[in-house]
Parts: sequence; C-alpha cells; structure tokens
Amino acid sequence: VFQLSVPLNFLGSVYRELRQSLLDMETLFNLQKVNVTIKDSPEAKPLALTGGQIVFENVRFGYRKDRIILNGLNLTIPAGKKVAIVGPSGCGKSTLLRLLFRFWDVQDGRILIDGQDIRHVSLASLREAIGVVPQDTPLFNASIGHNIRYGRLDASDEEVQDAARRAHIHEIVDSWPDKYDTMVGERGMMISGGEKQRLAISRLILKDPPLLFFDEATSALDTHTESALLGNIQSILKDKKRTSVFVAHRLRTIYDADLIIVLKDGRVAEQGTHEELVNHGGLYAELWSAQEMLFGEDDPKKPLEDVL
Ligand code: ATP
Repeated sequence: VFQLSVPLNFLGSVYRELRQSLLDMETLFNLQKVNVTIKDSPEAKPLALTGGQIVFENVRFGYRKDRIILNGLNLTIPAGKKVAIVGPSGCGKSTLLRLLFRFWDVQDGRILIDGQDIRHVSLASLREAIGVVPQDTPLFNASIGHNIRYGRLDASDEEVQDAARRAHIHEIVDSWPDKYDTMVGERGMMISGGEKQRLAISRLILKDPPLLFFDEATSALDTHTESALLGNIQSILKDKKRTSVFVAHRLRTIYDADLIIVLKDGRVAEQGTHEELVNHGGLYAELWSAQEMLFGEDDPKKPLEDVL
C-alpha cells in the first residue's frame, strides 16, 4: 500500500481545476489552442447518456474561415461499438475529437450524443462522459501513484493498483525501489512513451467513462507493447458496453473494428468493416495493400502518413 506524497486537501481547488482542465484535454489538444469563449448555454442540461451513439450531421468546420476542414460531414458512430477513423494526415481526424469536446463549435450542422445536440448540454457533463488516451500523455511532477489517481481522485490505493495492473503498468512500477511513490515528470524519473500510454489507460480505467477515444500515436511504440496494450483495451471493453473510437494510423491495429470510417477532403469517403472495404477496392483497400506491401511483416505498425 502506498501513500500519496501530497495530501489532496492541501492542494484544494487549484488541484481540482488543474485536474479538470488537464484531464479533459489531455495533450490531444494543445492548451493554447483551446477556445475559452465556449461556455454553457443558459438552458444547458446534463448529458443524458443512453447507449453512447455519436452523430455528426452536416458538420462544417474550419479553424480559419478561408480553410474548411470538415465540409458537410455526416457520420454515425453506433452505440457500444468499436469504430476506427482513418484517413490521410491533416484530414481532420483529431478535429472530430476536439469538436466533440467542444473546444470549438461547428460552423454549420450539429453533433449529437444520444440525440442531444452537444451545444445544449453542460460542458462538465459532456467532458465527464468522454475519456481520451491521447498521443502524448501529460505527466504531473508527482508520484506515479498520484499520476494514475488523476483519473479519479477518490479512488482507493487498491483501485489505483488494480487499474495499473489492468493497464499492464503495475509490474513496471512494482519493480522500482519506491514503487508507487516514485516521482515522475520533468523533475522525476523519465518514463517511456509506451509506459506513458499505459498510464493514460490506467487513468481511463479509473475514470471509466462511457465514451472512449484513442488517438494512436504516430510515433512507433514497440510493436509488442502496443499490441499487448490494445489487446488489453479490448478485454476492458468487453466487460461493459462502451463506444470506443480509434483514430488510427496503422491499419493493422484496427482491422477488427465493427466499423471503419475513411475520411478524405472533409467528408466520409467510404465506410464498412475491414473485409467490406478491402472488397470494395477503394481508398481503404489501397491504403491497406500499400501498408502491407511496403511494410508487411517487417513493420506492420508504420504510420499511415508515411505510406501516403
Ligand atoms: P494527423 O493524422 O496528422 O494527426 P488529423 O487528420 O488528425 O491529422 P487534424 O489534427 O484534425 O488532422 O487537423 C486537420 C487540419 O487542421 C490540419 O491541416 C491542421 O494543420 C489544421 N489545424 C489543426 N489545429 C489547428 C488550429 N488550432 N488552427 C489552425 N489549423 C489547425
């Protein structure tokens, strides 16, 4: 059993605010880029989740007026399914997540979660419902136990360790002399990209949100780490029905998704299961065979961008 290095009440509201902003955004979203003008509408109600269906309806969006990223996008992420979003670099995959978090609002159209326009629900309830494993996980200058606990502040030591176990990071932490009290972050021990991602997953397990997003890192983690990790995510997801969305660069990590959505030029170019898309012989089939042909057994995790 480990002790938190800093008592929670000591940190008080600053801590909560920090946690709130950082957990909500992780580093998927560069803090400086966040639009702080987005506020709750006066009649905002808490999001009422039923199954976790997400719909983008005629969504038009650009960060600047002169450059449209999403141009009348229509897509449905079915409740409780594993969905992958793929497409060329810069096509707007991560933008979908930022819009869903309401770091920006759509310029036209709407985004619905279980039938509710996200502009009409409270930001807190919206962001509480979504968990993200970002490309790069932020670390606090605190103990590793503390860092995991950011997922849910009232989690017990046992719950923290259980989450760490399920995210395959417990064994690593347990091998360190100071175990869960080991300081990490800039002033502590440096941990690898793979370990950071496991940390993010353990936070997510503690948070246990109904909607899960994985923004697959473009940088190559070692293949074994990543497949073990994704395998574990699957088993976590099997326990409960969760809508999970993978923004993917390596097609091999998502070929078993219930639905694969291919974005191009701000719209859905094609969608279906891996098999359907390969048989269809369109963009996905091209990408798949390019990745397979170029990297085959040698490097099946090569980022999509390098292939395009
Ligand atoms: P990748 O696969 O490379 O991660 P992506 O499909 O996730 O790319 P996005 O991050 O959604 O792409 O970005 C879509 C486009 O919007 C890109 O051209 C990007 O440069 C641009 N963009 C992203 N954020 C901003 C911003 N804050 N201001 C202006 N342009 C932006």
